[in-house]
Formats: sequence, structure tokens, C-alpha cells
Amino acid sequence: MKIAPISEELFQRAQHSIPGGVNSPVRAFRAVGGNPRFMVSAKGPYMYDEDGNRYMEFINSWGPMILGHAAEIVQEAVQRAIPNSLSFGAPTRKEIEIAELIVDMVPSIEKVRMVNSGTEATMSAVRVARGYTGRNKMIKFEGCYHGHGDSFLIAAGSGAITLGVPDSPGVTKGVAADTLTAPFNNLEAVKTLVEANKDQVAAIILEPVAGNMGLVLPEAGFLQGLRDLCTKEGIVLIFDEVMTGFRLAPGGAQQLFGVTPDMTTLGKIIGGGMPVGAYGGKKEIMNFVAPAGPVYQAGTLSGNPIAMSAGMAMLQYLQAHPEVYTNLERTTTNMVNGMKQNMQELGMNFTINHVGSMFSIFFTEQPVTDFESAKTSDTAMFGRYFNAMLQRGVYLAPSQYESLFVSTAITDELVQEYLKANSEALKEALL
Ligand code: PLP
Repeated sequence: MKIAPISEELFQRAQHSIPGGVNSPVRAFRAVGGNPRFMVSAKGPYMYDEDGNRYMEFINSWGPMILGHAAEIVQEAVQRAIPNSLSFGAPTRKEIEIAELIVDMVPSIEKVRMVNSGTEATMSAVRVARGYTGRNKMIKFEGCYHGHGDSFLIAAGSGAITLGVPDSPGVTKGVAADTLTAPFNNLEAVKTLVEANKDQVAAIILEPVAGNMGLVLPEAGFLQGLRDLCTKEGIVLIFDEVMTGFRLAPGGAQQLFGVTPDMTTLGKIIGGGMPVGAYGGKKEIMNFVAPAGPVYQAGTLSGNPIAMSAGMAMLQYLQAHPEVYTNLERTTTNMVNGMKQNMQELGMNFTINHVGSMFSIFFTEQPVTDFESAKTSDTAMFGRYFNAMLQRGVYLAPSQYESLFVSTAITDELVQEYLKANSEALKEALL
């Protein structure tokens, strides 16, 4: 049994100086009940909290730590870079090297611009798409999250669903009017929207594998259908691969599914745990970005040398070790199959979605293919399950509407520990 009096005390203290006590809403555990644990360190598969509790980890800093926490190759790269100064605000060789590596790894990217977060990447990509096409509207999908830029906070999944405010106050009607939404996996709905807004849609943006309404896979033909529609209508197709980039394959979901968008947004793994994002795409589109072109986008700390060193070490490792992906797939399949077996033994038939090293258990018996079906999940049961896992030292994402991420630090032995905890927690969640 994990008790956490120091975390409790810190959370009370945090409320006085930080809104809700946290610097990003989902961390507050509101969707699952209970209070968050305050962390002090992490290594490999484990995080350690202020009370000395150890947790086997399946958030991995919400994605970046694909090699587990404090991976030596990344830590060492950062340590080597630090003595040369933390920031220059002038170009460096490293920025060219990482750009060349990204161009090499991600099929759709011919030119790339580094930014500081996934949010910046998606905001900038849509601005560029608008500048390039001279059109204003964008289509996004219900339950997809693209960061907290105003125009994306419409049916935005993840933290927004969790708080029950899918459309945030502060987003003006004017901004919202340019964001059209369609159900994920529904190509006909997208075609209807495009038809009704002929020559006005600048971009269609989506998570090619959605991770922010829980994990939802694209159905056969959906991504290719969007690709064909965008080509026909002169719309910029943007894959938001902030989660899936470098995780589902070295070249992300676009490599895995063999569909190439016009632009791609990246984050998370690309910084190896440092605050990094990037957006890139076809040369003719990226040449619209200042100073090559008229669309303004800038950043004091963009291309930061420490962050680039961490990201470079991470990406080089992933490119040189394709076995990472087969190993992660094997580990995750073992986890998912074991969970299915646990459920069978308990007479349960809940839905698990899985691809590569990402998976979600939904507390519903119907297939989950879009936001509507994701919302049939019993979130109260998820809360009980989450807390039962936490008590057994397994740290999951504190919301039904998130994907879990498996790292290479999860050994076969840890999979067995995870499955034992899973079986007990499922039983507890039923009560
Ligand atoms: N896009 C996707 C698909 C994401 O999952 C996220 C964050 O979880 C973002 C964009 C925003 O990235 P950041 O939190 O780095 O701003």
C-alpha cells in the first residue's frame, strides 16, 4: 500500500501559488480522484515520489521517454553540451544536423523548423498552411488534441474532456468559426464539410493515430481517403505526429501506414525529454516560413543547443536501432494479451486498442473508433482501476482519455508484475 503524506502536503501548498496546484491540468488527478504524487527522480522503468514510493511507469513524461527515464545516451549528450553555454540565440551546427536527421527519418519532411513545444508546432503549421493556400478554415477531428492554441480548443480531447470544458472560455467565436470538426474515421463527413466550404479549407489536421481520446486507430482507407481528398481540393494535409512521431516507427505513423501528408508536426520524443517541437513538410510550403517567406514564426529559445543535443542523441539512437520498435511491439503485445486473458478470467469484455508501443483500455464493451464510442467508457470504473494500480506501484495516465506509452525499460519480468497488478486492480474496479 502506497501512502504519500508528503505529496499530500505539497499539493495543499501548491494550491496557493499555482492554479490548481499543477502546471498542466491532467497532472491534478481530477478525472480519477485522489491527489497527485510529487516526483523527485526517475530511472529506467521507475519514478520515485517525495515519500519514497516507487512506480512502474507507463506515461513516460507523456511520451518522450521511449528509452525509459534518464537514458544514458541522452543524459551524456546534455552534459557534454552544458559547458558551452545554455543558449546563444544565434545559429549552430547542431541545428543543421538535427534538421538533416529529421528530413532523413520522416517521409513527408523536406524542410523543418524547430520550436519549443507541440502546441507551437501545430499553431505554426496551420498558420503556414493558411498563408500558403490563402484560405482561412481548418478541419480537425472530434477528440483529437493538438495543443492549446485557441483554434484547436474545439472538441479537443484529452485534458479538455477530462475537465468537461471541450470549448474553453477565452476562445472567441470568431476564432472558433474557422475550425470545422468531423468525427474521426468518418471520411464522408469530411467530404461533406469540404463541399459545403468549397475553396475555403486551408488544412485538414489530425493525429493519424489518435491518442487523446484514448488510443483510436485509423480504419482501413481513412488516411488514404484524406490524402486523396486533400490532393484533389488543394488542401494542406497535416499529420500531428507529436505523439506518434519516432514512436510507432522511425518515420512515425506516416511510415507505418504508408500515407504521406503535406506537413507534419512533431514534439515529445524529438526533444528526448527537453522542451522541443518541430513542424516541417514539402519545400514549397516550408519556403513560406520567415525569413524565406512571408509567414512569420520565431522563438527566442528555438533550436536551443541543450535541447538539440538531447533530441539528436535520442533520434540518432532510434535511427541506428530499429530493433527498438520490434522489441517494443513484442512487449506491448504481451501486455495487451495478458490483460485480455485477465479479463477473460474475470468474465469481463472491455475494449483494448493497441498499436506499436501505445495502448488504451476502455471500460466499454463496444469497439472504440471515434470520440462518441470512446465516451461510452465507464470513467468512474477507470478511476477506481487507476487508483488500484497506483496503490500497487503502477503509474498510468490519470484519465480514461489518454494513451499509455511503453518504454524499452519494461522487461518481461516487469510485464508479469504489471499483469498481476492489472488482474487485482480490475477485480477492485468492479466493486
Ligand atoms: N499534439 C498532440 C497530438 C499531442 O498529444 C500534444 C500533447 O500531448 C500536443 C500536440 C501538444 O504538445 P505540447 O504539450 O508539447 O504543447
